[in-house]
Amino acid sequence: MQRREFEEWQRLSELAYVKCEAFLNSDALDEVRKGMQELTAKYPRHSVALDCHVEVCDSEKEEVLPLLRFGITAMEGKSPYIHHADSTPQRYLVNGAIHVVPHDHCPNCWGIWDFKFKNKACSHCSFSVGKEVRYMLDTDICPYCERGKMTSKSLTCDDCGFQLLPSEVAWG
Ligand SMILES: [Zn+2]
Ligand SMILES: [Zn+2]
Repeated sequence: MQRREFEEWQRLSELAYVKCEAFLNSDALDEVRKGMQELTAKYPRHSVALDCHVEVCDSEKEEVLPLLRFGITAMEGKSPYIHHADSTPQRYLVNGAIHVVPHDHCPNCWGIWDFKFKNKACSHCSFSVGKEVRYMLDTDICPYCERGKMTSKSLTCDDCGFQLLPSEVAWG
């Protein structure tokens, strides 16, 4: 998804997050939260989640990009709490254009493409890191662990050891 379009969808999903979080915590759902708590006390092997998803679907690619996944979950009879299950966005340079997708998806076909540091090619469209796809970095934050640092001179993360080749990165 082109960067500008991604930013527009992201604004919508941030708004959805604020509104849905307020709703999930509101009095309107008192009975539902109470029911979640009661049933997980009765069935302690089971947990339960009530989730809100914002997903963008492309009719030509026939793939879905999940932009927001969060909700309330309960287990062991404790009161429900907010949980997050969405993936952070990652920027890529794809054939010269900047694309943004959740980090476990392919920036070209949107299919699931996780662990790109190990699986260098997308199993759906065969685009690969270092050829059609480059990580687009504008900070020195490691795109893999998002804690450590790497620079244009040293493409090895000082925290997790994740390593990129110069052909796999574009700066900007
Ligand atoms: Zn792909
Ligand atoms: Zn790292």
